[in-house]
Amino acid sequence: MSASEAIEKTIKAGKVLRQVKEEAIKLIKPGVKLLEVAEFVEGRIVELGAKPAFPCNISINSDAAHFTPKKGDERVFKEGDLVKLDVGAHIDGYIADTAISVDLGDHNDLVKASEEALKNAIDAIHAGIDTAELGDVIESTIKEFGYKPIINLTGHGLQRWIAHAPPTIYNFSTKKGVVLEEGMIIAIEPFATNGVGKVVERSEIEIFSLINPKPVRMKLAREMLEEIKQYRTLPFAKRWLNRVSDFVINKLVRDGVLRAYPVLTEVGKGLVSQAEHTVVVEEDGARIVT
Ligand code: MN
Ligand code: MN
Repeated sequence: MSASEAIEKTIKAGKVLRQVKEEAIKLIKPGVKLLEVAEFVEGRIVELGAKPAFPCNISINSDAAHFTPKKGDERVFKEGDLVKLDVGAHIDGYIADTAISVDLGDHNDLVKASEEALKNAIDAIHAGIDTAELGDVIESTIKEFGYKPIINLTGHGLQRWIAHAPPTIYNFSTKKGVVLEEGMIIAIEPFATNGVGKVVERSEIEIFSLINPKPVRMKLAREMLEEIKQYRTLPFAKRWLNRVSDFVINKLVRDGVLRAYPVLTEVGKGLVSQAEHTVVVEEDGARIVT
């Protein structure tokens, strides 16, 4: 797995995502089920020759991240919704990650704030830049629109089978970050809000990942882990499993076998917009792969 293999496969995964994202946006309309869009995205990624790197995230209004519909979910998009569609695909573990805000209401400025922040940050990237500068660009762009960045959601590196790898790329000004190097694959993802600028967990959890595959005694837990192993260290949705029990999932989380990703919601109930691209750091700039 040479550096060029990583970049080539990330670029291929990114190309798949670009098409899936474009097609999925057209489906997001009032009255349409969230589950229909999530299943379309995940199925289409496979049809186009990649695999989902994580469940299709569809976080609405004050929810910022980690919402995915459950099995049989009847919830639909509503007039006025601010929808964040966050999708990931991988080829042999090499991941591309991208997100877009779809506005079913009157939130154009808030959507623009995260889009412009993303654009300005990508324009600033080159080998040798400190990620602290990117945080500064993102924060000042979002503030120009009169909004706040969300301080505890970040951009990140992408490594084989690891959807959130170092470096952490903050969406606000920090004293010192990490110096980016040529060939690094990173995701930049500003979040803008008219709320407080911070997310907290709420009780709904549909996304998990395997962090410590130690032997378990319960038969159902063993069967579930056999099924989960195909996702390696990447996040999966509870609705992807054939054999599933909340009791067993909760026990596996308590025992440190699985990690849970609760839905993250804006603490001040503010609306949240998000924009995200995966890029490869180049000597003089950045190549957007999504
Ligand atoms: Mn993402
Ligand atoms: Mn990301």
